[in-house]
Order: sequence, then C-alpha cells, then structure tokens
Amino acid sequence: MFRALVVEKDEESGRTSAGVKELALEDLPHAEVTVAVEYSTLNYKDGLCIGPGGGLVRKYPHVPGIDLAGTVEASEDARYRSGDRVVLTGWRVGEAHWGGYSQKARVRADWLVPLPEGVDTRAAMAVGTAGFTAMLAVMALEDHGLAPGHGPVLVTGAAGGVGSVATAILAHLGHEVVAVTGRTGQEEYLRGLGASRIVPREEFAEVTKKPLESEQWAGCVDAVAGAMLGRVLKQMKYGTSVAAIGLAGGPAIEGALITPFILRGVNLLGIDSVMQPYANRVRAWERIARDLPMDRLEAMIVPATLADLPQLGADILKGQVRGRVVVDVS
Ligand code: NDP
Repeated sequence: MFRALVVEKDEESGRTSAGVKELALEDLPHAEVTVAVEYSTLNYKDGLCIGPGGGLVRKYPHVPGIDLAGTVEASEDARYRSGDRVVLTGWRVGEAHWGGYSQKARVRADWLVPLPEGVDTRAAMAVGTAGFTAMLAVMALEDHGLAPGHGPVLVTGAAGGVGSVATAILAHLGHEVVAVTGRTGQEEYLRGLGASRIVPREEFAEVTKKPLESEQWAGCVDAVAGAMLGRVLKQMKYGTSVAAIGLAGGPAIEGALITPFILRGVNLLGIDSVMQPYANRVRAWERIARDLPMDRLEAMIVPATLADLPQLGADILKGQVRGRVVVDVS
C-alpha cells in the first residue's frame, strides 16, 4: 500500500474533493515503468486539477501532479532499469493520466528523462515544469541571438514559478534582468534571485494605441500575456525576441499591433513544455544542471506535503504562491 492525493467527484452535485488516501499497486494504470516518486511540485495546472478540474481531468477518481521525480522501481522498457533516477514533466500526466502526487506512479518510458549529474530529485522538482519551461524560453531567446551585453532582459510574472527560475538563470548567465511584479513585497526576493531592477506591474497595465514605444528590452520571458505583452512588444529593441510562455494576465494580447514585427523585426516565440521532443528535453535538463545556480534555487523553495496540496492548489489559482513549492510525498 502507498499514499496518494486522490480527487473524487460527486456525480450528483458535480463537486470534486481532494484528500490523501491509501492505494494498492493494482490501482495504478498500466504503463511500462513503475517509479517510486520522491518529490513532486505545484503548477497552475495542478491547482486546476486538485480543484474543479478546469476541463483537464478526464476521469475520476484522479491522482493529480503534472511533475514527478524519483527512482525507477520496475521497468518493462530496456531504456530504464531499477535504481535509475528520473524526472517527468508534461505529456498530460496529472491531467489525462495519473500523476506525481503519489508515492508510486506508472508511466510510459517515452515520457521520462534521466536526471543529469548534479540535479537530485528534490532539486528537479524545485525546477519542475515551471523551471523547465523557463529554461526552454531562455534557450529559444539564445537561439534567436540573445547574448549577455545586449541590454536589459525583461521577465514578467517574475515572482511566480516560471518567472523566478527565468530570473535566476538569466542573471547567472550574465544578463541584466528587469523583473515585473504586481507584488511590491517581493523586491528583496527578486533581487536575491539576481534581478537588477524591479518594475511594478501597473506600468504595463494601460492598453495604448501607439504603434511603437522607445526601444528598451534586449529580450523578454513573458508569463502574463494580456495588456502587458501588448505593451512589451512595442518596447522591444530592433531584431529581438519575446518568449511567450503563459497567460497569467489573460489569453489575448491586448493592444498588440503588427508594427513591432514589421518595423523592428521583433520575434514572438511560442514556448510549449508539454509535448517538447525528447532531445530538447535532455538539452534543457543539461542546461539546468549547468546554468541554474542551486543556492538561488534553494531560496525559491516552499516545502510541502501531500496533505498541504488542497490549500496550496487554491492558493496558486489566486496568484498567492511565491517561487517553487516542493512536495515531499514520503
Ligand atoms: P504562477 O502562478 O507561479 O506565476 C504567475 C505569475 O504571473 C504570478 O506570480 C504573478 O506574478 C503574475 N500574474 C498573475 N496574475 C496576473 C495578472 N492578472 N496580471 C499580471 N500578472 C499576473 O504560475 P507559473 O509561473 O507556474 O506559470 C505562469 C504561466 O505560464 C501560467 O499562465 C501557466 O499556465 C503558464 N505555463 C505554461 C507552460 C508552457 O508550457 N508554455 C508551462 C508552465 C506554465 P507577480 O506576483 O510577480 O506579479
């Protein structure tokens, strides 16, 4: 028997409820690799799946948790052997498939990535989908020409999961990082991650009709979209790129015009972490091992247990979680 966070749905009222339950190995869905999960984490999507589902969960009872890290216990696939340390993010695990809020998980070998040297299972979950996505965003900006010395790089939603890790990676790589936050109390935290300037969210709140604004940013990792992305695009330096990873401020790009693209050659790079091909996953985890300073990562960690998740899930949906929650499932 082992413990997991199980979400159940009352068919009559349609209400869901989440609680820690004992499960048996036979309860797990079939897949090639059984992982003894050590840590998981918390993302916005997890908040939805712990709560009412947000249209992501197909079937109840459900075990959420879109990320997991642990040790292979048994494998029917030649690529993995008992004792291998592995990490899993994306592939709709924790949404369409049972996920990482469990002491055991059964998953497909194709979804796993071997953990690189220097990243233990706890650090891997401090990174999680949020940090993995931040790394993919930085890699995409570099692939489109960003290098240290080009000028300030903007990070929006900076005190959130993706923003925190993006700030730490970019600062470590030698970029001047400007962090946008709506939480004034987070200045010290963001400076500790390496931000050299903090800009209040309100400065990007107004939707303007101006075709362009003065050129300021050499790159941007944007977790917010909405009015903020509309403004940021008009402020990008000539030939630079924005990596768009999220929609914390709404799904539209408000006030966006074509002018930044055709008059300044600005690129809008879409970043998806869920279906990312294997080779790029391995590349991103190797870069995380090299370019994410583990002492700064430690400063972002909020420790939690399975029993804390119902409350934390509600908190993240309200934008009230700072940094990276690491869930010890033991
Ligand atoms: P968090 O909730 O941890 O962070 C989001 C941050 O955005 C908040 O901390 C806040 O930052 C800011 N924010 C929230 N609401 C608003 C608002 N109304 N207007 C402006 N800013 C706001 O989430 P994550 O960092 O985990 O994820 C960020 C986004 O990226 C989400 O939309 C998520 O769904 C998406 N995502 C996409 C992935 C992909 O594969 N593309 C992978 C992972 C996440 P602050 O307090 O500093 O203002």
